[in-house]
Amino acid sequence: MDAVQQIEIPTPFEVGRVNCYLFTGAEATLLDPGPNTEAAYEALSAGLNEQGFSVSDVDHVLFTHPHMDHFGMANRIVEESGAKTVAHRDAVVALNGPDRHFERERAFFRPFLLSMGVPEDIIASALMLPEAYTEYRKPFAVDRKLADGDTIDVGGGLTAIHTPGHAPGSVCFVSRTDDVVFTGDHVLQDVTPNPLLTITPGAGDERTRSLPTYLESLNRLRRVDATVGRAGHGDDITDIDARIQETLEHHNDRKELIAGLINKIGPMSAYDVMQEMFPELPATEVFAGMSEVIGHLDLLEDENRVHIEKEDQVRQYSMI
Ligand SMILES: [Zn+2]
Ligand SMILES: [Zn+2]
Repeated sequence: MDAVQQIEIPTPFEVGRVNCYLFTGAEATLLDPGPNTEAAYEALSAGLNEQGFSVSDVDHVLFTHPHMDHFGMANRIVEESGAKTVAHRDAVVALNGPDRHFERERAFFRPFLLSMGVPEDIIASALMLPEAYTEYRKPFAVDRKLADGDTIDVGGGLTAIHTPGHAPGSVCFVSRTDDVVFTGDHVLQDVTPNPLLTITPGAGDERTRSLPTYLESLNRLRRVDATVGRAGHGDDITDIDARIQETLEHHNDRKELIAGLINKIGPMSAYDVMQEMFPELPATEVFAGMSEVIGHLDLLEDENRVHIEKEDQVRQYSMI
């Protein structure tokens, strides 16, 4: 691979900095430029300058997944440089119209969360987006839509591996010349990414089964021949297979913990389970907490271990 530089981009989010990667060879390519804030733009500019480039020199921008801490600044870069954008085809809807996508999500999840036992007043705040967030992400057109296995000619070349779960349209980029994979948020060294629920990218509103999908994607990445992960946040992953194994075990432990809870207390709604698991979660964290719990309930359902019955329109889970 030709030179690849890591540029640390600050974000206003709890996750902390996002790692942007700059590939330089005949052309300059960015992977995950960061959110649309002045501080992020300055950090990106400074990082490019250090390598003898400016924002207007960028030729291509790649994205691991459609979350605003990774893509928000893309529109500004494209306006300044005319860069071509590259993302997985399932990420396109969220990148083209993040606000529209969010409204569709909100409309879908209001009745869905009710059916999962979340009280109405909590749903309202759980589905609220802080005003400033719309500024952190500007829509843009995707020039090249990737499918699994597609190759991108930057540096020594990258191959896209479709790894949905944390988000639809998530991809990891495997280097074809080095023992490295760029993982975005799919695998991180110190935290387990949240299998956030969202609506599926296709027509017709349906929710994703994020955690089962995520675990499948982890297993797919395990089959890829690379040792080191360069992640979207935090430090490099020194042994990607070991980290995947730890992540799989973490979810298995949590699933068994939830199975034990339902066995002891059930029948219970997903919201009841969430309150047992994460008591006193602030309303702004409820959606992430519910995503996590429903993900594990989906796994138990797939394993035919739970019985689901509706009571007053709310799904109640008990162990079989
Ligand atoms: Zn993310
Ligand atoms: Zn992220």
